[in-house]
Amino acid sequence: MVSVPVINSTQRFPVRRIYCVGRNYAAHSREMGSDPTREPPFFFQKPTDAIQVVNPGTVGDHPYPSKTKNYHYECELVAFINKRGRNIAARDALDYVYGYAVGLDMTRRDLQRMMGDEKKPWEIGKSFDRAAPISHIYPAAQVGHLKEGAIWLKVNGQIKQTSDLKNMIWSVAEQIANLSEYYELFPGDIIYSGTPENVGPVVPGDLMVCGIDKVGELHVKVV
Ligand code: MN
Repeated sequence: MVSVPVINSTQRFPVRRIYCVGRNYAAHSREMGSDPTREPPFFFQKPTDAIQVVNPGTVGDHPYPSKTKNYHYECELVAFINKRGRNIAARDALDYVYGYAVGLDMTRRDLQRMMGDEKKPWEIGKSFDRAAPISHIYPAAQVGHLKEGAIWLKVNGQIKQTSDLKNMIWSVAEQIANLSEYYELFPGDIIYSGTPENVGPVVPGDLMVCGIDKVGELHVKVV
């Protein structure tokens, strides 16, 4: 079973499902051509085995995937659910969160756009091998619940994305509340909580470093 290590521990967190939130920062929603003010949150999934764990202090080699000419990074906060529930109230939702990590929602943007334009599922743009690089987990018991703090991404040392978690349109608690109306949540479900603006392409040889306050950094090299 796919699992993600807990930082400074021998424990691992088995992953059951990967949910991802789309267009959850207003400036990113606008750059994708949407109006952020009128949209409820929406979710898609990646396959669990898309997880690529990168250990702290190391660089993960990430193969450039097939069939794309426009491969994009999306730096995101990831929340790990460790309690079962449905119709969870937003005010209770953080009780369901074990901890957080920094992750990349890697995207074959050209395929995502092409499928969207044809009103087909965008699966091939988002769900493929190693499409979900991720750091170790930082338990909320140690770092608290992350509602604000810097989130950023550099490529080859140059800053590309920079924002603050408080700029999310739907908070992690609100995401859980909404998601749990559609799905019963179980321990092992994780949520990629959306990316800020200024997504962009990488090519083989590029080094991506993304970071979130209190959750450290994720180093991934495209090969
Ligand atoms: Mn995303």
